Amino acid sequence: IETKPKRPQWLKAPAPVGDNYRDLKGLVDRLKLHTVCDSAACPNIGECWNHRTATFMILGNFCTRRCGFCAVQKGQPLDVDYGEPERVAEACEILGLKYAVITSVNRDDRKDGGADLFALTIRAIRQRIPGCKVEVLVPDFQGNKDAMAIVMDAAPDVLNHNIETVPRLYQQVRIGARYERSLEMLAWAKALRPEIPTKSGLMVGLGETNEEVVSTLRDLRTHHVDFATIGQYLRPTPQHLPVLRYVTPAEFAEYKQAGRDLGFSHIESGPLVRSSYHAAEAL
Ligand code: SF4
Ligand code: SF4
Repeated sequence: IETKPKRPQWLKAPAPVGDNYRDLKGLVDRLKLHTVCDSAACPNIGECWNHRTATFMILGNFCTRRCGFCAVQKGQPLDVDYGEPERVAEACEILGLKYAVITSVNRDDRKDGGADLFALTIRAIRQRIPGCKVEVLVPDFQGNKDAMAIVMDAAPDVLNHNIETVPRLYQQVRIGARYERSLEMLAWAKALRPEIPTKSGLMVGLGETNEEVVSTLRDLRTHHVDFATIGQYLRPTPQHLPVLRYVTPAEFAEYKQAGRDLGFSHIESGPLVRSSYHAAEAL
């Protein structure tokens, strides 16, 4: 018999209601954009959207991978829409963002994995909103170093690539990805532009031990990653991987301390932390 851990109180998040929330939803629909907040069923959508901040997801809303934790739709990818960078920039301008976070679905169907659209989006935002910082959360580009170079050439303010989980769980959790390859891509981004901070994050509650979490943090530091995020995995639907444990706030505090001791210059660690949660605070 499967015993399901009970969802604790500390995971309560504000409901997605309110004027700002409605405005943002209208804007996203009107500009035909996607957000990872919505597509990945992020629990913070009530809070973030009411503060008029969102994470835009470019390159369509169908992903070529099928990670066991992720609610983004899987399937045949859409044609690349070269009008999308300008519309994302327009949305950032309307929202008055000073810090934009851009991510994408995985595009293993494309040789550069969609790196060109990341670069165009960074440039479109910079041109439209001088001074707006841009963080990009990129896929692994299947280890294509030229693709990473295209992104780094556009000089994002932060280059983020999530390691997602500990290496032992890759086969169940991050199908199609490789732990070492992700670490190498992070180190490569840093080698290309040492002045640009790199960032990575992982989810807990998927069956990893606390020692494995700290060991993954150590691997990230060995690959020169500057910022880290750690949050509780929440099962988006019964078809997704089960939650095996709810990590306590005290344990999250211990990860944070371990991360500081390892030398991360910024680390967010808490039950509702997501890759883009309070992203602006690291700079
Ligand atoms: Fe969106 Fe990130 Fe906020 Fe979640 S934490 S609602 S993904 S901006
Ligand atoms: Fe989700 Fe995985 Fe696709 Fe990213 S690569 S959008 S985590 S299924």
